[in-house]
Amino acid sequence: MCYTGEMFRVILLYTLLFITISIGVSQEEKDRKIVFNEVVYDPFFAATIKDNEGERFNVSRIAFFDEFNEKKYFFWVRRNSGLYTVSFKNIKSVIFSSNDFADDRYEGFTRATLNLISGESHLVYIKTTGHLEGFEELFASPVTFYLHYNLIESIEFAGNGNYYYCPFCETVYFDPSTEICPYDKTPLVEGVLSDSDR
Ligand SMILES: [Zn+2]
Repeated sequence: MCYTGEMFRVILLYTLLFITISIGVSQEEKDRKIVFNEVVYDPFFAATIKDNEGERFNVSRIAFFDEFNEKKYFFWVRRNSGLYTVSFKNIKSVIFSSNDFADDRYEGFTRATLNLISGESHLVYIKTTGHLEGFEELFASPVTFYLHYNLIESIEFAGNGNYYYCPFCETVYFDPSTEICPYDKTPLVEGVLSDSDR
């Protein structure tokens, strides 16, 4: 009888512990993860941003905020009559044209060369109504970049199409400096994006 009671107490303790851990993880996941095309991605994209004065900024945790201040991990891209969303994971770099100013042809869009990780380059118009936010390495501080009026010359993403994933929780990371999963401390495994993901 006493033994069963002990067992019950142990099970109850573990159940409470499990619930506590589950709540902790789910809040963490909400803050840090993103689901895109049914795959969970870590939003910590990193890039070198060069401004129109030639200053370079190494920025991690990059996200784009549109005019409604909604957080996105992609750019809206116009190519003639086509309007696309292009995920940061597929972008190698964005080089803005210094001759064409914002709103030249399409309101809120700026002419740029979009270099994809697949090796393709396209002359496009990128939505620049909004701003980039991230965490700057040098000042170890959050930073905001406005994309209006050609303040930014280029955005070069650190990812090259490879990713790392956690075999335990299956979170995907694009930042090559991440070696251990911050959620469960599991060493990450290297993966390669399939053609369909590009
Ligand atoms: Zn993990």
